[in-house]
Amino acid sequence: MSNEQVNYQMYIGGEWVSAESERNLVSTNPYTGDDWATVPDAQVADVDKAVTAAREAFEHGEWSSMSAKDRGALLRKMGDLVGENAEHLGRMESLDNGKLYREMLAQTTYLQEWFYYFAGAADKLQGATIPSERPNFFIYTRPEPVGVVAAITPWNSPVLLLGFKLAPALAAGCTFVVKPSEHTSVSTLEFAKLFDKAGFPKGVFNVITGGPDTGNALANNHGVDKIAFTGSTKTGISVAKAAAEHVGRVSLELGGKSPNIVFADADLKAAANGVIAGIFGATGQTCMAGSRLLVHESVKDELVDLIATRAATIVMGDPMDPATEMGPMATGQQFDKVLGMLKRAKEQGATFVTGGGKSAAHDGYFIEPTIITDIDPEMEIGKDEIFGPVLSVFTFDSEEDAIAKANDTRYGLAAGVWTLSGQRGHRVAHKLRAGTVWINAYRVVSPNTPFGGFKESGLGRENGFDAMKQYTENKSVWVELDGATRDPFSIG
Ligand code: NAD
Repeated sequence: MSNEQVNYQMYIGGEWVSAESERNLVSTNPYTGDDWATVPDAQVADVDKAVTAAREAFEHGEWSSMSAKDRGALLRKMGDLVGENAEHLGRMESLDNGKLYREMLAQTTYLQEWFYYFAGAADKLQGATIPSERPNFFIYTRPEPVGVVAAITPWNSPVLLLGFKLAPALAAGCTFVVKPSEHTSVSTLEFAKLFDKAGFPKGVFNVITGGPDTGNALANNHGVDKIAFTGSTKTGISVAKAAAEHVGRVSLELGGKSPNIVFADADLKAAANGVIAGIFGATGQTCMAGSRLLVHESVKDELVDLIATRAATIVMGDPMDPATEMGPMATGQQFDKVLGMLKRAKEQGATFVTGGGKSAAHDGYFIEPTIITDIDPEMEIGKDEIFGPVLSVFTFDSEEDAIAKANDTRYGLAAGVWTLSGQRGHRVAHKLRAGTVWINAYRVVSPNTPFGGFKESGLGRENGFDAMKQYTENKSVWVELDGATRDPFSIG
């Protein structure tokens, strides 16, 4: 990569445009510290332009009368193009957010499956005929596209999380405006180039770039019918409030404080590996991070020892190097936030088994893999989302105790259960208040399996066939069959 800065424009109505103000934001590579790209800083007027383009394509363009089968064919073509460009998209993401190239490549490669899955689903969404109690009526329902969808996405997995929303929305016949994170807009802009190649009509997909103000303007835009948001719980609440002002539909994928629960009868080596994947994978910067380890008191020392031993060998460094296992934090802000939380945990008397601060061996935003014990569950480190490589360890003494502690959180995104008892695994899974439970596994998702949160981790589900229903309105059509004149002052 040369040090030359790349200046990007936004994609609105099929054209590449600058912000009306001509103002730009800088994208910084968190590993090298280089300001490597600029993207437009969109304001209200730019947001209006993008929403108007999406509205026009929804109501009047070729897209508005396209059959579900033909929409499916375009989605399939898009899947092919995503696959062909997976390396490029993965590289852009890694440069922007500092996560491992091999992880971003795995995500951008897998992304094509979302387009294939929803390409096939596009013409499978059906209405129903309703058995009328009145013989003179025929009643049926039509699932119709909800309209203009606005997506707001975070920095950790930009195009994958966009795909979770975009593929079902397009399959349902919606048009789309996305605002990626101000820290990681480039991959979404590169992804937009594929839309022209795939042959989508202009205005079906639009990208605006900018920060919180731009997101806020999008959430407040009355031309948006539905907002699909992924990000922090705090921002999600603000987006939902803005949408409520115009009764906009909302789906929210928010934060988590997910437990990995390890019983005494577990395969401890496998559990240790799963715990490491859950908290040190992606440098802990994932919504589904298994940031709380709940372990049976009888195996705590053995398990923590296994995890700490592996943590000590984690290779930190250049995210583009295939040997690297943990990259830096994605932003200086996130780096400072995690260090602040670690400092306060120390002051409050938590014990650090390993790690606890900035990595001395690296320049930049590197934080050591950290394992903390002796935590009061009321301490910030035990109950708030950290979004970094920090594992908080708790013990339990019975199955009931494990379930109670696992559920003692305002979040409910995911959980892992480690046990060799099949009965116990299912029994515990059924009692956990979380949108996804993995038994003897952690951190797996797929296009056909619903994903989303209980409690403050979200609203609605992404992925799976039903995700398409979140992008439709159900219309009921009543047909009078005998044409008789009825009492105009009585219902029916
Ligand atoms: P964030 O909430 O700060 O930002 C997310 C997006 O919202 C960005 O595009 C940002 O510009 C925009 N935004 C910020 N303020 C806004 C406002 N007032 N109105 C409208 N838009 C606004 O989150 P982040 O730091 O980018 O990402 C990390 C968070 O995302 C974590 O809490 C993580 O758990 C969550 N996340 C959740 C999932 C999931 O699927 N549940 C997946 C990934 C990340």
